[in-house]
Amino acid sequence: MFKPPLKDKTYFFGGCNGCVECCKYPFIPLVLDDFKFVHEYFPIVFAYINKELRVLILLSDGEKCRYLKDGICSIYENRPPSCKMYPISPFFGSLLLDYSCPCVGDMGAFLIRNGEVGESNYHERVDDFEEKLAATSEFLVHAEPNLKNIGSFKDIQLFVLGGDLDEYAEFVDMHRRSLSFLGF
Ligand code: SF4
Ligand code: SF4
Repeated sequence: MFKPPLKDKTYFFGGCNGCVECCKYPFIPLVLDDFKFVHEYFPIVFAYINKELRVLILLSDGEKCRYLKDGICSIYENRPPSCKMYPISPFFGSLLLDYSCPCVGDMGAFLIRNGEVGESNYHERVDDFEEKLAATSEFLVHAEPNLKNIGSFKDIQLFVLGGDLDEYAEFVDMHRRSLSFLGF
C-alpha cells in the first residue's frame, strides 16, 4: 500500500532477493513525459481505471511483465521510470512509498528521507511531477474524443488513438509506434 514516508525517517532498499511481485502488475500508469522512455519496449494504451481515463503501458504478457525472464528483468538498464523508482512513486507534489514491498527496511542502499531519493531509485520522472501530471491531464482531454476500442485485457477495455492530435504529434507518433507490440 502506498503511503507517505514518515518525516525524518531514513528508509533503505535491501534488494529484491528473488521477489518479482511488482513485475506482475498488468498496467503501469504513465505521464506524457514517460512516453519517450517506454514506447520502444511496451504498448502504450488508454483505459478507464476507476472511471477515469488513463494512459498506461500494457506491461503484462498475460501472467507477468513480458521482460521478466527467469526471475530477472531482461531490459534492466531500459526499464520504465516507474520500475526504476519502485517502491517509490510520485503523487502530485509528494512522494509515496509502497510499504508492502519487502525490500523496504533498515538495511541496504539509501532509498528515501524527507523527499530526497537515493541514487539507485532516482529517475528524472520525479522532477516537476505536478506539471507533468497537469500536461498529461490536458492531453487526455484532447485524446478522449478520438479513442478507438481495441478489445479488453483482464476485463479492462483498452483504447488507442483513432484520430490525429496535431499539437501532440510527437506523442501520438510514439503511441502509434508502440502499438507494433500489439500487431498494429
Ligand atoms: S521492488 Fe519490492 S515488490 Fe518489487 S520486486 Fe523488488 S522487493 Fe518485490
Ligand atoms: S520492465 Fe523489468 S522491472 Fe519493470 S516490470 Fe518488467 S521485468 Fe519488472
